[in-house]
Amino acid sequence: MADSFDAIVIGGGPGGYNAAIRLGQLGLSSACIDKRGSFGGTCLNIGCIPSKALLHASERFHEAQTDFAKLGIKAKVDLDLPAMMAQKTKVVGELTKGVEFLLKKAKSEAIVGEGRITAPGKVEVKTADGKVRNLTAKHIIIATGSDVAPLPGVTLDEKQIVSSTGAIALTAVPKKLVVVGAGVIGLELGSVWKRLGSEVTVVEFLDRVTPGIDLEVSKAFQRVLTKQGFTFLLSTKVTGVEKKAGALKVTVEPAAGGDKQVLDADVLLVAIGRIPYTANLGLAEVGAAMDKRGRVITDNHYRTNVPGIYAIGDCREGPMLAHKAEDEAVAVAEIIAGKAGHVSYGIIPSVVYTSPEVAWVGKTEEELKAEGRAYKVGKFPFTANSRAKINHETEGFAKVLADAVTDEVLGAHLIGPSVSEMIGEYCVAMEFRAASEDVARTCHPHPTRSEALKQAAMGVEGWTMQA
Ligand SMILES: Cc1cc2nc3c(=O)[nH]c(=O)nc-3n(C[C@H](O)[C@H](O)[C@H](O)COP(=O)(O)OP(=O)(O)OC[C@H]3O[C@@H](n4cnc5c(N)ncnc54)[C@H](O)[C@@H]3O)c2cc1C
Repeated sequence: MADSFDAIVIGGGPGGYNAAIRLGQLGLSSACIDKRGSFGGTCLNIGCIPSKALLHASERFHEAQTDFAKLGIKAKVDLDLPAMMAQKTKVVGELTKGVEFLLKKAKSEAIVGEGRITAPGKVEVKTADGKVRNLTAKHIIIATGSDVAPLPGVTLDEKQIVSSTGAIALTAVPKKLVVVGAGVIGLELGSVWKRLGSEVTVVEFLDRVTPGIDLEVSKAFQRVLTKQGFTFLLSTKVTGVEKKAGALKVTVEPAAGGDKQVLDADVLLVAIGRIPYTANLGLAEVGAAMDKRGRVITDNHYRTNVPGIYAIGDCREGPMLAHKAEDEAVAVAEIIAGKAGHVSYGIIPSVVYTSPEVAWVGKTEEELKAEGRAYKVGKFPFTANSRAKINHETEGFAKVLADAVTDEVLGAHLIGPSVSEMIGEYCVAMEFRAASEDVARTCHPHPTRSEALKQAAMGVEGWTMQA
């Protein structure tokens, strides 16, 4: 086994494994190290994949219980939670094995162990069998990802007081679930357990759900979730949690201070965000600079201040998203190979995989107003989309923002059925710097929900036809 490579990648998540694969495709040798024991990182093991597996299964369960009757289908369904969890675990196993196969195909050595940078070009790995390997490479890519952000004063046990990791592995449906944080992860996992029968209360410090998204969408989203039975305590903070006779007493108070209130819960889910993970990596010892939030500082070629050391993914700045990590992985591998790697940071889409889904890319109306940029809005409701109507999925709308002078698409904000699969259309349009008219005059298949995207673009110049 060689101990010398063109590049060593520390971390086997979407950032790390994609960097190793792209390096292999470009003819460069690499090792990809991950301490978890299975490749794929947060995303495949405890993040995107298991959460979406449960969202899919719980949505089907809920549909069968409540929506089939609308279609003339009588069904009596029962929940088999162990089987639902088992299918999730199976798909995770298949995908993580798939990553190992792809690394092998790219001739990257997959090493299970903890990596630490001992000097530029040098990485010490404590392998799973307790041995130590000293590896060398011209380039080191840090792709160590992120970890759950802790809530001061609250200790996770991952059984009753859980992070997302515990929330995707509960062994019984909690009667009462309190979620701290109305961000993407809290609302997605809150939806899973709501559909399976929990009473869900979401406590959010700020005054809105999914802070940072287009305000009109955020308001519509909160309305829909409230209709589904979510209870929201906005502008509220959790100040403590106590275990009493097997149950939880969660103390909350107004964010600005005021009277306390105690909520009963069987499970508390802490979902207040994620923090970069760079512990025991040797960064301080080699002098790699970090910012105040613990992220590795890089230039726009992913180079740290230490020659030959790069960082990508959740451990550096930018949205903590798997596809952002993947695109940075490709870019850094290409830069190392002497090519021109590039990521369009203004065109990274985001999705909340609830029902309805929420998806967006580019600028929000609030951002455009703050920039003083003149823009036009085109909007189309799913109530007027024939496919959504057929499917009884008429909640939500598509909204397009375009420059008032040039008509360039500046942002798209969708709430509705399957919008996760549709936002890519606007990403492509924006990559090509399309005008809203380009989308409006592109033929879309009928009857599809994608027609709502075209109709919204038509709305920018006021010639929407079906609303
Ligand atoms: C519940 C949940 C749902 C999510 N859903 C989505 C989603 O739907 N879409 C989306 O885009 N994103 C989603 N994310 C975010 C996504 O998982 C992350 O953005 C993505 O995994 C980041 O990739 P990464 O490669 O930077 O890091 P990670 O995936 O975190 O991988 C880093 C890896 O490095 C390893 N590591 C760390 N230190 C060392 C070391 N010293 N030596 C060896 N190995 C080390 C870790 O074990 C880990 O496996 C979700 C996250 C969570 C928690």
